[in-house]
Amino acid sequence: MISCAPEGIRYSFVLPVFNEEAVLPLLLHRLDRLVASLDAPAEVIFVDDGSRDTSAIMLEALAKQKPHIRFIKLSRNFGQQYAATAGMDAASGAAVILMDADLQDPPEIVHEMIARWKEGNEIVYARRRSRDGESAFKKFTSKLFYRLLGQISDVDIPRDVSDFRLMDRNVVEAFREMPERDRYVRGMIHWLGFRQTSVEFDRPARAAGETKYNFWKLLRLAMSAVVSFSDAPLKLAVWVGAGVSAFAAGYGAYAIYRGLFADDAASGWASTVVIISLLCGINMLLTGMVGIYVGRIHAEVKRRPLYVVSKRVGFEAAREESQGKKERRAG
Ligand code: UDP
Ligand code: MG
Repeated sequence: MISCAPEGIRYSFVLPVFNEEAVLPLLLHRLDRLVASLDAPAEVIFVDDGSRDTSAIMLEALAKQKPHIRFIKLSRNFGQQYAATAGMDAASGAAVILMDADLQDPPEIVHEMIARWKEGNEIVYARRRSRDGESAFKKFTSKLFYRLLGQISDVDIPRDVSDFRLMDRNVVEAFREMPERDRYVRGMIHWLGFRQTSVEFDRPARAAGETKYNFWKLLRLAMSAVVSFSDAPLKLAVWVGAGVSAFAAGYGAYAIYRGLFADDAASGWASTVVIISLLCGINMLLTGMVGIYVGRIHAEVKRRPLYVVSKRVGFEAAREESQGKKERRAG
C-alpha cells in the first residue's frame, strides 16, 4: 500500500495560510522538528490564501531556501477550503496530511497518525478530546450544528473533527475527482468512504494571532455544509408549505361558513391581515430556500476554476529531480 511517489516523497504536509505571520516562526520550528523525525522524505506545502500581511513574503523566501518547502500563492483570498484543495492538488506524497497553520493542530500527533496509516487505514482523523481558547458560544454552536447536520444529511459527518487529517494517496486521487465548487472538505472526504480511523488529542488554543473566521464566515461554511450534504431544507419547504396550505384551507372553509351563516362577517379583518402576512412571509422564506439551491446550481454550471494560482515556488526542484530520474532511466 505504501507506494513511493516519483520524487521519493512519502509525506506531504498541506497548510492553508491566511495572515499568520505571528505564528509562522514557531510553526516552522515545530514542523522542522517533525519532518526531521520522520522515517521518509517529506514535503511541506504552504498555500497562501491571499494574506495581507508578510506571511507570503516569509514563506516564499523560505521555499527558495529549503528544498522540502513548497509555496503556492493564490491570487486572492478564496477561503480555507479552496486553499486546502489547491495544496492537495499539488501534493505528491503517498500520505497527505492536511493541517491548520495556527498550531491548533499540533504537529507531534502526526507520528501517531502515520502509525495508524501504516496499519492500513486510508483516512486518519484527529479527533479533539477538548478544545481550549475558543469561546463558549463557538463551542456550543459548533456542537449544535454537527448534531443538526448529522440529523438532516445522508452522510454522518464525524463530530469533533476539524480538517486535521492524514489521507492516503488513493483518497487524495478520489478527492481530486470531485469537481464541486461548493466545498466542505471534511464532509467530502467523509463521503468518499475508505478505511477510516481516528486518533484523539486535546486541541490547544491558537499559538498566536487571531481566528480568521468571524461569525459570517462560519455561517457561510455551515450553509455550504448543509446545502451540499442535505436536501432537508428543500423538503422542509414542501412540508411547511403543505402545513400552511392545509391550515389556510381549513380556516378558509370556516370563513366561508361564517360568511354564509353568521351576520358578523366583516369583523374578520384582523385575521385576514394576519393570515395574508403569514402566508407572504412563509412564501418568501420557501422561495428563498429554493433560491439558495438554485444559486449553488448557478455557481456549478459556470464551471470556473476552484482557485487561481498566482505563483508557485519550490516545485521546480522536485520536477527536475523526477525529470532527471526519467532521463537517466531512458539513457
Ligand atoms: N485560513 C485560510 N483562509 C481563510 C481563513 C483561514 O487559509 O480565509 C486558514 C488559517 O490561516 C488557518 C486555518 O485556515 O491555517 C484555520 O483558520 P482559523 O485558525 O482562523 O480557524 P479556527 O481554528 O478559528 O476555526
Ligand atoms: Mg484555528
